[in-house]
Parts: sequence; C-alpha cells; structure tokens
Amino acid sequence: MKNCAIVGINWGDEGKGRMVDLLTEDYDVVVRFQGGGNAGHTVINERGKFALHLLPSGIFRENVVNILGNGVAMDPENLWKEMQEVMSQGVDLTPDNLKISDRASLLLPWHRDMDELEEMRLADKKFGSTKQGIAPFYSDKYQKKTILAGELFYPEHLKAHLADLMEWKNLTLTKVYGAKPYTMEMLEAWIENACEKIKPYVANTGAFLKKAQAEGKSILFEAQLGSLRDLDYGIHPYTTSSNTTAAYAPIGSGFPGAKITDVVGVVKAYSTCVGEGPFVCEMFGDEAEELRKNGFEYGAKTGRPRRVGPIDIVATRYGVEVQAATEIALTKLDILSYMDKIPVCTHYEVDGKQTDEFPFPVALNDAKPVVEYFDGWKCDITGVRKWEDLPKAAQDYVLFIEKEIGCPITYVSVGAERESIIIRK
Ligand code: GDP
Repeated sequence: MKNCAIVGINWGDEGKGRMVDLLTEDYDVVVRFQGGGNAGHTVINERGKFALHLLPSGIFRENVVNILGNGVAMDPENLWKEMQEVMSQGVDLTPDNLKISDRASLLLPWHRDMDELEEMRLADKKFGSTKQGIAPFYSDKYQKKTILAGELFYPEHLKAHLADLMEWKNLTLTKVYGAKPYTMEMLEAWIENACEKIKPYVANTGAFLKKAQAEGKSILFEAQLGSLRDLDYGIHPYTTSSNTTAAYAPIGSGFPGAKITDVVGVVKAYSTCVGEGPFVCEMFGDEAEELRKNGFEYGAKTGRPRRVGPIDIVATRYGVEVQAATEIALTKLDILSYMDKIPVCTHYEVDGKQTDEFPFPVALNDAKPVVEYFDGWKCDITGVRKWEDLPKAAQDYVLFIEKEIGCPITYVSVGAERESIIIRK
C-alpha cells in the first residue's frame, strides 16, 4: 500500500500528466484533488496524444479507478466535452473507472461569465485568467453558494436551490456588470445537456477511497499547476484559487485521513510561466523565442505562448519545501540539447544583496536573477534510458540541481513518450 502525490514544484506545466501516466502502473486509484479545467496535462502513450483538463491521467490504464475529488472545480459542461473527446479516441469511461465525488461543488454557467466580465473591468490590470470561471467558482464555494454534485439526485431540491442562487447572482451580473440575467430555462438546459450526462458517474468517492485503502490498494493523488500558484504559498495574487500542494491532497480527495507516503515533485529542466506576475528568471528576445520553440511552450488550454527562462534554483528550492517533496522528476532535459551554454538562475539579487531565500511576493518585483552558465552537451539524448549513458555535461547539470534543491532526482525525463525516462533508484 502506497499513497503518493504527484505535484508541480514551479509554475505548472512541468509535465505532471506525463509522470502520472508513467507511474499509474503501480497504482489502483488516481485522484484529482484540486483545480479545474483551466490548465491541461498532455499525455502521449500507445493510444495516442491526449489533452486532459479535468480527467485524471490514470484513465488510460485498465484496472485503474479515477476519481474527481471534492476539491475539484467540477465543471459538468467541460467535463462532458472532454469525456466525449477521450471516448472518441477509444478510451472507455464507465462509472466503474471514473467516479465524481458527490461532495464536489459544481462550476455553474455564470462562473465563466463572471471571470470574463471581471477581466474586462480590470482591463490592463488583468491577471491573465483563462476565463474558465475558476476564481469565481472557488469564491462562491467558500461562500457556500454553489451546488454539490450529489444534489443532482434530488431534482426538486436542486431546482429550488438553483433558483435561489440565480436570484442572488443575477444581482451582481445585472447591477454590477450590466450583463444579462440568467433564467430558469437556461439552467434547466444546463441540467439536461451537461449535468444529466455526468450524473451516472457521481458517487460517494470518500467511502470508495476508505474501502480501497482498507483493502491495501495504492492511491496516486494528482495535482494541477505548481507550488508557486498555490493560493496560500504561491506568488499572491498571481496564484490559482485552490491549494496545489500535497498537503491538501487528503482534504481535496475526499479521504481526509489519508497519509501521503511519497511526494513526487515535478520540475522542468528550465522555467515556464503562463499569465501575468513576477517571473524573476524570465528570458526575452531571440534567446526566449528559441527556447519556447524548442520546448513547444504554448498553453495546452489556451495556446498562449508561455514565458520562459532558465531553471530557477531559488524558486525551485522553495517549491520543494512547500510540497515537502520526497523525490523529484526532472522533465524535458532533452529540450536543452541545442544550447551551447546552459543558463541557471542560481540566486536572486534583492536590494543589492544576493539571496537564496524566495522573497515575499511584493519584493519579487524588484528581484534580479543571478545567472551562471553550464556546458551544454549538444547531442540528442532522447534515446538514453540509463543514467550512465547520459553525457557527462548533462549528468553534471542534473547533479548540480539535485545538490542545490536538496532533494533526490529519481526520474529524468528525456521525451514526451511514456518510455522516454531514466530511472535513478
Ligand atoms: P502538466 O500540466 O504538468 O502535465 O504539463 P503540460 O502537459 O502542460 O506540459 C508538459 C508538456 O511537455 C507536454 O506536452 C508533454 O507531452 C511534454 N513533455 C513532458 N515531459 C517531456 C520530456 O521529458 N521531453 C519532452 N520533449 N517533452 C516532454
């Protein structure tokens, strides 16, 4: 029996989906415990290439049960769309291998409107939201102004509850933003076209997890985004609206008593960041464009070009600490093969002083990167499967990062495919 969380150490997009897809072989259950459809995992395996947003990355393995926990922003419309896409690519999704927590709050149709309207109001002060309604959803969840998935089994109660929420939300939509109000007909169509479709998958997943653990099954907890986007520990206010940290996994999964035994932190061999906010190690100009192109760094959900930079040791060390990572998977090392010299942001300079400490969010605005250069290896490493076969310069790069962040790098990924991995344990 093992309970393992796979989490992002940086800004997200580290390649968590790829690691979950690889490691699920040893697990019986995969649980998504936070976040929504606002980011995406790309998974490439023998069945094809898949862009997952809400679905857990264990859906490709037979005998793995996938759970969307209560901490997730459960968007019935987007989930149903994603399920149809994946099923059209030949993946079976049944109530036996996909279960939605009856305690998951539903992302309601107006949450997307609220996101869009607020970004418009903010104009040039916007945060770069993906407009999937995630922030308005979580605010309403904590105000207890959403619907639980389990309420779909109580149709009379559901309609009355929705009517109350609609009356409340229409006040903000019409009076604050001057937008159109919702009607019950619109909400009934939403129930019919989205909620009814996912209803067969809604279950008491907390009870399922407790029983699975009692039977000695192993559970993998899958996170979205990374440490620096955590609501409490990230770069406020440029964070997401949920906790992306392993410590939240037991709560958001529906199994509050779960003991997480392993935390695999996923780190990319260089840095990327989507959206606004301080990004100390950012590269610009041709150097950035070349890295972006080589790394295919365009958002899985939005197609937006990602901001790029060298690996940031200060931020990564902080991310490892926040996640209490027990081991690290370093991904996309192959992308750096084109570089003559590999930049590494080893320290920050704040107020003229060099520091290893990750600063308070506001102080990040004035932090400057201190960059050192490592020798490149200048050859294709995508076919390497054994540590001793990696060029010395690539080994030195990995070992330097390992020493600086103080956590063992047990996986080195050298390609997007499932088998493109070097295991060091
Ligand atoms: P996630 O949200 O953390 O799963 O990350 P994304 O899916 O947004 O980004 C990771 C991207 O890099 C995906 O397109 C993966 O297929 C790809 N990828 C993951 N690991 C590697 C690797 O080691 N090498 C290369 N070339 N691509 C990788």
